[in-house]
Parts: sequence; C-alpha cells; structure tokens
Amino acid sequence: MTYDPDQPRAPKGVPEGGQWVEAGKAARAAAGLPAVSEKAEQACSEFAAKYRNLAAYERCEFIDPDTGEVFFDKSGLETSIDLTEVFWLYRDRCKGAILTHNHCAMEAAHSTSDILTAGKLQLGQIRVVTPLYQHILAPGERGWDGVFDMPLNKSFEMAKTLATGVIRNKYGNAFSMAMTDFSKGPPAPMAVEWVYEMMSQFASSRGLRYCRIPNK
Ligand SMILES: [Zn+2]
Repeated sequence: MTYDPDQPRAPKGVPEGGQWVEAGKAARAAAGLPAVSEKAEQACSEFAAKYRNLAAYERCEFIDPDTGEVFFDKSGLETSIDLTEVFWLYRDRCKGAILTHNHCAMEAAHSTSDILTAGKLQLGQIRVVTPLYQHILAPGERGWDGVFDMPLNKSFEMAKTLATGVIRNKYGNAFSMAMTDFSKGPPAPMAVEWVYEMMSQFASSRGLRYCRIPNK
C-alpha cells in the first residue's frame, strides 16, 4: 500500500492502526461517502473504541466534521436517547455534522428512528457503533430526501427479504432468521454478513450511501 502523507492515522500504540484507518478510508471511498477531516475520523474512532461493547445504555456524540470537536454528547436508555435539546439548541450546527452512537453491544445497524433523526437534522452522516464495526449511513445525491418518501419499515422489510435471499444462496439452510436476533449473544458470522447485505440494499433503495469499517 502506498504511503499518503494526508492519510488518517490511528493513535500511537494501536497495533496495525494505520492499516485499519486506511482500510476504512478505502471502504468509505468505495461507498461514495464524503471525506471527513482526520480529526473527526479520530474522534469517531475513539468513540468506537470506548463504547463498542457498552451494553447497559446508548451513548451518542455529535461531532464537527472539520474540527473533530464533540459539540454535544449524551447518555440515554437501552434503546434510545432523547434528543429534544439537540433539535432545540443545535439544529444549525447539526447540518453536515456526524452523529455517532453505540447499539448496546449488539451487531444491529441503523434503526428507522436513527435514519429519521439523520434526515430531520440534515446530518452529514450517522454512525452506529457495534462490537465489530462502525456502520456509516450518509445522504446520496438527493440528500436525505429519500428518507421521507414512504415509511422506512417498508424498505427495511424488502431489504431484509433481499438480504436473506443473498445469504441463503451462499450458505443454504445453514442460515436462519433466528440468527439475526442480536440480543441473544455473539452473532454468527453469516448473520453479520446479512446485516451488511441488508443495509446495502436498504441504502440503495432510498438513494443513501452506506459502508461499514471494522473496529480495532
Ligand atoms: Zn441507533
């Protein structure tokens, strides 16, 4: 891999950190995601390292995409965080910003309410941190417009059906939907693959961009 003086770097002391950040950069570029500053990427990575295995409650950080500054953070409940004050006080600052949050140590990516929040606040991207990945969803050419076209759960159901077809083609009956209940402990690798497939299908159906980058 060629050295790029501008490439994001992982903090000192993280083994193979450079490689990890580089792989993330490549994944994001392939997905057509807008680049964020090195400092913002660093802030996201630090959040992921700290909270990817946090199971007791959700925590979020709103990050400035240029400076990497965390301009709002909050801890919530097991499946939600009340963001009323963000809508009241930080609406302007949220435009183009990054929202990252954990999903209580489960391997599930964005919820419908995550995506609606991102659309309403016109975020630059919304990240879900799971034990294994940062899942990144960002607007496409139509911005977040596609989010409001029709109920999101319709597209989710369709994406799940398509993803199930893809994974069954690959693994046959070794894959079952029960594996996608991530509340039941560590997920099967094929269920993790199913999430990636499902989110990719969902994002393209709504004109959004999705990728995931591995945690280290
Ligand atoms: Zn969420």
